[in-house]
Amino acid sequence: MQLNVETLAFINGGQALVLALMLWFGTHGRSGHALQGMRLRAGALLLEAGSDFILALVGQIPPLAILLLGNTLSLSAQALTIVALRMVLMRPLRWRPALVLGLVGWIGVTWLSTVHPNYPLRVLWGSFIIACNISLNIAALWGGCNKRETRAQCMLLWAYVLAFALLVWRNVSLWSMATPLSGISTPSPVNTIYVLLFGLQPLLASVGFLLLYNEILQRELFDLARIDPLTGITNRLGLLEASEVFLSRARAKQESIGVLLIDADHFKSINDRFGHDDGDRVLLELVSNIRRMLRGSDLVGRVGGEEFLVLSPCVKANDLLALAERIRAAIERTSFFIDGEAYALTVSIGAAIASHHEPDMMGARRRADKALYDAKRAGRNCVMISAP
Ligand code: GH3
Ligand code: MG
Ligand code: MG
Repeated sequence: MQLNVETLAFINGGQALVLALMLWFGTHGRSGHALQGMRLRAGALLLEAGSDFILALVGQIPPLAILLLGNTLSLSAQALTIVALRMVLMRPLRWRPALVLGLVGWIGVTWLSTVHPNYPLRVLWGSFIIACNISLNIAALWGGCNKRETRAQCMLLWAYVLAFALLVWRNVSLWSMATPLSGISTPSPVNTIYVLLFGLQPLLASVGFLLLYNEILQRELFDLARIDPLTGITNRLGLLEASEVFLSRARAKQESIGVLLIDADHFKSINDRFGHDDGDRVLLELVSNIRRMLRGSDLVGRVGGEEFLVLSPCVKANDLLALAERIRAAIERTSFFIDGEAYALTVSIGAAIASHHEPDMMGARRRADKALYDAKRAGRNCVMISAP
């Protein structure tokens, strides 16, 4: 096959340019951390396109200019991609190692093309730098293959591993050749395959980035749908799903689950007296007081209004009553400050035990509800438990 690196480089450059424009305009005008990462990736693609177009000018501009300019753009694109990927993944950015790698890479390539020209050694050095860049990306994506909801992350991780393998193969081939090649445009199967596959890289990596971005947005949406926007704790839907998980764990361990329904007493009077915003602040403080009393394995969620549900795994009736009483007493002791004025708030709590024999948590929920009603009727600021 006739090798024409210039044509391949020109096609690759055009492809990277179109991708950069698509990514840029497709993400324009909106905000968000992951989105910023996508725009940075568009910037990296633009640099990659520049470096490909320069390579396409072999024979028309001095080889040294091609080498220095092309490598500057290509190494900058790699550094930007490292940071963009971390931005999309919402990981701490690694600007410094990315830039240092780019600079060290550039110095090495320049040295091996001007001071001490040696093509195979230059390829080895360039590959080493790319391999380091790839390793940084692999490190960012690491751990993505453990969960179902991070499939795109896992796929991108494998793509980088394959790119790493391609680099190793290219270097082994170059060093085992009887006649050493003098440059990237020297016709040889290894050069053709390398330019072709690395030319496809902008497209493959961009698809990977888009799938990753989609996956992260899906995860955000999933979480948002399960979080109460005011208090930041689990909402009704999250509680419903968590109940199923708690129950299946309880079945496996043959244990029971404690359910507490906590309702603020006379909360309407706080809103009436101080307004809804101050009422919201009191709700936030109430939640943080409840959370302080719970174990790491317990879960608190907002059922609605000023009513909260606590799921406490592996507890018996006595432990559950003790927990409810601790929560009630803690709220009673707390002074809620509104407009500099201390306000005493109390809660009523209905408790129930869900046995692992029960088909779902609805029965226990109903019993806790009834116990809460009894607590309200008994004068509020107290705990009632329903008989199983
Ligand atoms: P009880 O002791 O019988 O529970 O009396 P209550 O006033 O707490 O009960 P009621 O159900 O009559 O009123 C609940 C109040 O909670 C009414 C509503 O304005 C308030 N509320 C519900 N959700 C919110 C919220 O998100 N923010 C604020 N500030 N108030 C809320
Ligand atoms: Mg109430
Ligand atoms: Mg209520």
